[in-house]
Amino acid sequence: MLIPQSEIDRIKREVSVEQFLVNPKRQGGFLVARCPLPGHDDKTPSFRFNLAEGWWKCMGCGRGGGGILKFACAYWGLSWPRDFPLVLERLGARRGEPAEHRYLPPGIKGTAATPTRPKTWPRLPDRAAIAVYRVAAEMWATNLWRPTNRDALAYVRGRGIPDALIRSEWIGVSTDTLGAALRERGLSPEIAHGLGLLRWDGHETFAGRITFVEWRLVAGEWVPVWATARVYGDGAAWDEGRKYLNVRGDRLIVGLDHARQGREVVVVEGVVDRLAVLSFGDVAVSLGSNQPSPGMYAELRALARTRRLILFGDPDRAGRKGRLRTLATLDLPPAAEASVADLPPMVGDPGALLGRRDGAAIYRAAKEHARRVDLARFGRLVSICHLSYETRKAAIRARTRMITAAPPPVRRPGKEVDVMGD
Ligand SMILES: [Zn+2]
Repeated sequence: MLIPQSEIDRIKREVSVEQFLVNPKRQGGFLVARCPLPGHDDKTPSFRFNLAEGWWKCMGCGRGGGGILKFACAYWGLSWPRDFPLVLERLGARRGEPAEHRYLPPGIKGTAATPTRPKTWPRLPDRAAIAVYRVAAEMWATNLWRPTNRDALAYVRGRGIPDALIRSEWIGVSTDTLGAALRERGLSPEIAHGLGLLRWDGHETFAGRITFVEWRLVAGEWVPVWATARVYGDGAAWDEGRKYLNVRGDRLIVGLDHARQGREVVVVEGVVDRLAVLSFGDVAVSLGSNQPSPGMYAELRALARTRRLILFGDPDRAGRKGRLRTLATLDLPPAAEASVADLPPMVGDPGALLGRRDGAAIYRAAKEHARRVDLARFGRLVSICHLSYETRKAAIRARTRMITAAPPPVRRPGKEVDVMGD
């Protein structure tokens, strides 16, 4: 195994079961909380965690064990000891690598305290949450093909997304019927509230939006684990302030497990950009924004270990900068393969190629001209930039000290202030 013992010790030292508990209460030497383990919809706090000795036990479902590793295994529904390395990695263990790099990409300020390596992987929902997602995903997808939602289907088709992809990707529309559907199946709306799928007034958060669901392979089965939704028409959604709304919880890379099928993976920003690449027959993941979370970087970094990444995007300054920042934060080993591809200036993002007669040709041409990044050189450049940034900062600090220290008190005769009079 590639994870060194020192890393295992570090995880045991730094990660605690406590971090997985919601509203834990101190009772003597224990933390008590509702059971966080999958399959146990705990109504009363049945879970005990012994602070001094690190062991844990659920009085409701009976599961228990000796420490964080066994706990994490149960928490993610993984099998012990087969998934031992996976558990360690999700808890933030690094494979036999030297000391942590802590340089920052150029031009990024105020993040000096943030280490490049993430502490943890994004957390996947538990079984109860997945059951709710499944009801939602099926309902949304069915909705889209109902005659009453013709406008939603027309919008998706209008974006140029082929019908086959609409179906295989489970694209749907929310029509505010989730609460009723959950009740019908005897599922608790509380979990849907917790996920942010239902508002506290019982209405669906995504109502009036086109829905996109992320499916992952969990224990050999494809399950829905995350969703995002986009406004599509005037007056359809209750809150049109934001184009996209996500569910609560850790953000995920969209299309990750599907992308493992390919030898090369195109990395794009938006969910529609990803659909465009799929429609051209390639494999893609989308980051959802130009500021992925540390957990998403971890997922992407793991993908880059065995696959070639092609970062696709806008040729403008912001687009390029965004991709370089992604690469710098990814901090890939020199042996990894990463390329950047620019679309023509008038196209913008890959999603705009959908529905264009020449879309596939433009995409292919851009991909052919993708430039491989020399990661060893890039890494050195990033450290130099960071170093010069640090040097500049130190210089500014020194100058500030000089200025504040320099001016001696100027005393002009006759201008003395009588402090005693105040
Ligand atoms: Zn339990």
